[in-house]
Amino acid sequence: MSHFTYRKRVLHAEDVPLPAIAEAAGTPVYVYSATALREHFQAVSGAFGEHPHLVCYAVKANSTLAVLRLLAEQGSGFDIVSGGELARVKAAGGAPGKTVFAGVGKTPEEMAQALAAGILFFNVESPEELELLDAVARAQGKRAPFALRVNPNVDARTHRYIATGLKTSKFGVPFEEAHALYARARKMKGLEAVGLDCHIGSQITLTSPFKAALTKMGALYKELQAQGHALRYLDVGGGLGITYTEETPPSAEEYARTLLGAVGKLGATIVFEPGRSIVGNAGVLLTRVLFRKKTPARQFVVVDAGMNDLMRPALYEAHHGFKPLVQRRGKEVEVDVVGPVCESTDVLARQRALVLPQQGELFAFMSAGAYGMSMASNYNSRPRPAEVLVDGGAWRVVRERERVEDLWRGEHP
Ligand SMILES: *Cc1c(COP(=O)(O)O)cnc(C)c1O
Repeated sequence: MSHFTYRKRVLHAEDVPLPAIAEAAGTPVYVYSATALREHFQAVSGAFGEHPHLVCYAVKANSTLAVLRLLAEQGSGFDIVSGGELARVKAAGGAPGKTVFAGVGKTPEEMAQALAAGILFFNVESPEELELLDAVARAQGKRAPFALRVNPNVDARTHRYIATGLKTSKFGVPFEEAHALYARARKMKGLEAVGLDCHIGSQITLTSPFKAALTKMGALYKELQAQGHALRYLDVGGGLGITYTEETPPSAEEYARTLLGAVGKLGATIVFEPGRSIVGNAGVLLTRVLFRKKTPARQFVVVDAGMNDLMRPALYEAHHGFKPLVQRRGKEVEVDVVGPVCESTDVLARQRALVLPQQGELFAFMSAGAYGMSMASNYNSRPRPAEVLVDGGAWRVVRERERVEDLWRGEHP
């Protein structure tokens, strides 16, 4: 169920009319629904029932402290990809002991911080990383718990920019090399193999790629155990898709049934790393129309949010619904919704049929909770948007709009 619905023609977030937030907090502004975040978390976590499991929310999807805090309160663990994300998890009250650390380029400092913080395990992505982690751990007199991120060579059937499980991907180690690497790691005194990991991509809308990957991973897990590696965790990554327009991703139940069907009998604790499926449809980006502009070829609508605020359309050719905060009747025309940024790719919504937007009218980019604010930049010296969290009939600013002075903080002219 969506928590962004029209009531008497006015778009609401839960019980709060969105125009009220836009007027008070200004635009562009991200608005999140606390109830949606809780429901999405409970749906994925609950779908695994009694089977031992841990949800490690993928911080990169939305790293705002208020979002992390809310999920930590629900019992979530975290999947991080940098020292900065670890710092955010700690600042938000998240448990390092429920945190896993992935990424192909961890620095020695990041490894040392994560080890000192006592994270659950490292997802190691190369032989050289394994060597370095061993050295960092021995310097602290510890054994670093790790899982090898293995590339199952499965086509996730998603946009090529967000597929990560193919042979040609920079992520993970080749499936065929896993045995040798675990054997090598066993001889390193600074390492302890605790699990096996994969992540095949993002915005996956079919169960078949998960099934194919996990069937391979499950067999490998068994073989490694038989060779005497005392693995306890099978980390299946994230990637469950959401509905932006017409997509029909598997439900949390179907997803869990698929995973448990493939690996439910291993006796492993299933770790999974959902990002988009928790925050994507829990957030919208509000924007105001600045100008309309008609050329012989196109009707443009220029809004005050740009690709620096919401990069997904420019980066992945992604589609976000674009809805008026107050519905009006009238004849629909085809428009291109563009931002103010000086780039031809700054088109946020292409060829949409809308009642011709008026100057000053307010709109929402839908499904903008994931990879929205966390990818926002200051390109064109644009301060990043504010963020608001709605809970029932209440709302509060959880991140202030950046001020222009913030734009040159740390600079020495
Ligand atoms: C990005 C990422 C995720 C989250 O992916 P979603 O598609 O947002 O669920 C999980 N694990 C790893 C290793 C990632 O890089």
